[in-house]
Amino acid sequence: MATIEPNAATAPDPNTRTSFPHGNHLLPAEENRYRAMANPAQHDDPQRGDPLAAPSSLPTTVDPGSMTRAQLAALPLTTDVALAIAEQHGVCVRPIAMRRINTTTGRIDIVPVSCGSTRDDHCRPCADKARRLRMAQCRQGWHLETEPVIERATPTETQQELMTARADLFAAYAQCKTNGDEVSCEEIADSVAELDAKLRAAGVRGRLTPLDAPSKPVKRSTRRRQDAPDLPRRPIQRRTVGQVFAGRYRPSTFLTLTLDSYGRVDSDGAAVDPDRYDYLRAARDAIHFPALVDRFWQNTRRCVGWEVQYFGTVEPQKRSAPHYHAAIRGTIPRAELRAITKATYHQVWWPPHDQLIYTDERLPRWDARAKCFTDPDTRTPLPSWDQACEQLTEPTHVIRFGEQVHVKGILGGSEEAGRHIGYLTKYLTKTIGQAAGLGEHATDAQREHIRRLHAELQVTPCSPRCTVWLLYGIQPKGARHSMIPGRCKGKAHQLDHLGIAGRRVLVSRKWSNKTLDDHRAERGAFVRQLLEAVGIHPTHGPGEGPYQWERPAPTDPDIPPRPLLLLHAIAERQRWKAEYTTAQLATHGPLVDNRSATRDQAA
Ligand SMILES: [Zn+2]
Ligand SMILES: [Zn+2]
Repeated sequence: MATIEPNAATAPDPNTRTSFPHGNHLLPAEENRYRAMANPAQHDDPQRGDPLAAPSSLPTTVDPGSMTRAQLAALPLTTDVALAIAEQHGVCVRPIAMRRINTTTGRIDIVPVSCGSTRDDHCRPCADKARRLRMAQCRQGWHLETEPVIERATPTETQQELMTARADLFAAYAQCKTNGDEVSCEEIADSVAELDAKLRAAGVRGRLTPLDAPSKPVKRSTRRRQDAPDLPRRPIQRRTVGQVFAGRYRPSTFLTLTLDSYGRVDSDGAAVDPDRYDYLRAARDAIHFPALVDRFWQNTRRCVGWEVQYFGTVEPQKRSAPHYHAAIRGTIPRAELRAITKATYHQVWWPPHDQLIYTDERLPRWDARAKCFTDPDTRTPLPSWDQACEQLTEPTHVIRFGEQVHVKGILGGSEEAGRHIGYLTKYLTKTIGQAAGLGEHATDAQREHIRRLHAELQVTPCSPRCTVWLLYGIQPKGARHSMIPGRCKGKAHQLDHLGIAGRRVLVSRKWSNKTLDDHRAERGAFVRQLLEAVGIHPTHGPGEGPYQWERPAPTDPDIPPRPLLLLHAIAERQRWKAEYTTAQLATHGPLVDNRSATRDQAA
């Protein structure tokens, strides 16, 4: 079967099926439409950008009743219509055309691949799919009754060979280094880098010892050590699942943690008096919030003794301050969670940054000879990050949680559990700004509130490498000539993030013991199993191929226009749905789907 050739110079040969991959599954009408659109005879080259514009031979007013089926099929179908249909069918609206080469048969197809966005203003179907996957992940780990087992495969022969080769190179490197043979050292380093890539490709995980031992970390004075909070410490137990009560109930927990108040806010979350609202602390707290959450889990595990597992999401409240929802496996007494929250804090040992020293009119300059930033007038080098940190005697910022701690016991499988999984994942498809209510309907007070917070974030360093440090007369870690003082690309400074730059979903390692990819693969496997049970063989099962994938250039002649790509994806989706429904009806439920997201997905 030939692949689509939108630019073919000759009229289509009736014996050549100009169709998309697996075109044999297209309904005849759809195939006609594809053919009509792909047929160069029906649209001129200048229209290639929008091949769905009405072919000039068609009448300007359309009477569907008097048209043949073929004419109907050739009616204009705008990008908008294609987009609407795609969205309706849960098909990616921004598909990427990929060239798939079957290395066994040599067949080449152009296949639409989903964009995989997690934001619904970019691609609602993909964002929705991503959110459902997170829901499945949350559901699977929350009420686990047995300890998740980490199964590590025994090393393969290839892996062992590669590892041995690496050890030999490692020894050779050390030898060359002692002899001062830098050229050989460099060559060996290249080979090791290559080997490491192969090891990763062969599925080896974990840390590979670097050739050069890292320079000794700067010793911190004991003054700077975070004190262990005043909490009870229970003996360590090797368990992650919750306890059973009354012989059958195994409740789990839903927890919400918030930050302190920075000033009064109205019902929309906007500051009542922006001049008295503490934007400085709000901005710093937002940036250091993930570190505080980390400390919370460390303290919790130390206090309760068992390996507490969690699925947590970071979200903005209406006032734009981050808060944290977490599903915890098992129960921890409410009073204890409150005590842990109260005792948890995080100290930020960064140089002081309260007074701006440089502003846009007068900024530090890079001195090419001294290889550092200098004062624009005196030309004296600014203190380096390490120098600035050495002099610290107290933390510049300390962050704690607010008074409000919300704890709720939830039974597995209950309607309540489902609802809380909904809460946890509700805002994952929105940016922080959107979730905080910054949209069309925002009030003036809300806009002003977010503007003030955003302005403060422009002068709040987001990390030791942040170029905002230069405004405070300190060279960021790893300072280099390309840095522009005050212009940091870090997400924390952006309106879409409002200080919340880290991951939105934080899942502990032994939650479900699966990565998102594992969950995705599991879903695919379930559907295949269901189809196979009734004798339906998916067109492109894992048994086919192997495939080689290529990203074609947008100007390549075999790349169909976007609406066509969309229609193809829709047809695929419909075919797949039909197969799935047939399989479901045929099996009458002997296959129980306990991965509920699969069911959601297929529906
Ligand atoms: Zn998409
Ligand atoms: Zn920054």
